[in-house]
Amino acid sequence: MEIVNYFKAKTIEEAYEKLQEDKANLIIGGGAWLRLSSKTVETAIDLEHVGLNQIKETKDTIEIDAYVTLREVEKNETLKNLFSGIVSKGVNGIMGVALRNLVTVGGSIAGKYSFSDFITPLLAVNTEVVMYKAGKMPLEDFLKLRSREKDIILKIIIKKEEMLGYYYKMKKTGLDFAVVNVGITNQDGHYKIIVGARPSLATFAVKAMEFINNQKEVTEKVMEETAKIAGEELKFGTNSKAGKEYRTELAKVYIRRGLKEVTK
Ligand SMILES: Cc1cc2nc3c(=O)[nH]c(=O)nc-3n(C[C@H](O)[C@H](O)[C@H](O)COP(=O)(O)OP(=O)(O)OC[C@H]3O[C@@H](n4cnc5c(N)ncnc54)[C@H](O)[C@@H]3O)c2cc1C
Repeated sequence: MEIVNYFKAKTIEEAYEKLQEDKANLIIGGGAWLRLSSKTVETAIDLEHVGLNQIKETKDTIEIDAYVTLREVEKNETLKNLFSGIVSKGVNGIMGVALRNLVTVGGSIAGKYSFSDFITPLLAVNTEVVMYKAGKMPLEDFLKLRSREKDIILKIIIKKEEMLGYYYKMKKTGLDFAVVNVGITNQDGHYKIIVGARPSLATFAVKAMEFINNQKEVTEKVMEETAKIAGEELKFGTNSKAGKEYRTELAKVYIRRGLKEVTK
């Protein structure tokens, strides 16, 4: 990647204006993923001085600014305890501490990475994304956005809710990307099941969720059937990490294990 100009914005308005000036201008987060690309960036816009680097808590929410690093997310005590700690666990499995000290929440959401160990657990809990122009929307809607207009992610908002959670990243070696990842929550008998790195972007297992959420009792047989439905409804594929069939079987196994873990 080549950066022609570097611009430290003083306000978010200034950053937004600069972003619109040229097609090849962009916001730089930690720069870790951008660095791997071969593109030329006309102006990289740095948000360090616009005040987007805090984690704020209210009674009902935890708000994480776009420039907060994934290491700070991982270390946050509230997140370690909420939803059985699945957001922290997801982040904890990303490369090493050095990378997590660098990469940002904004860059990790904006990239919509199919392998993401951040997006999968965030979908399993109640998360909203706040953008400068487009405003606030659920994370699942943000992931579907195909707008051509360039915008800036300001923060994410996670609702503090009582629920049991499960997150598992299946990887071949310690520092590797996920072969498949699974996030599950159970909030008072209402289950959410998300599968990521299929190898495409994380998504809800809608039919499987509908099935399990309509059962009077969640027995082992129900869990087995739920995993089977998820395996059939979700689209899995082949890449250098694993074949389609293997990935499908792995997802079913981890869905079953996850359901067991969140069903008390
Ligand atoms: C070697 C390596 C291994 C990795 N392994 C994993 C892994 O196993 N699991 C995993 O989940 N992740 C992994 N990641 C991804 C990492 O966790 C980050 O998600 C990624 O690096 C992006 O974060 P960043 O801050 O570096 O963003 P950048 O590289 O700075 O930016 C990425 C994109 O987001 C845009 N952007 C940044 N901030 C904003 C904003 N506020 N508003 C709008 N757009 C914005 C940029 O313009 C760019 O298009 C890995 C990354 C690397 C480099």
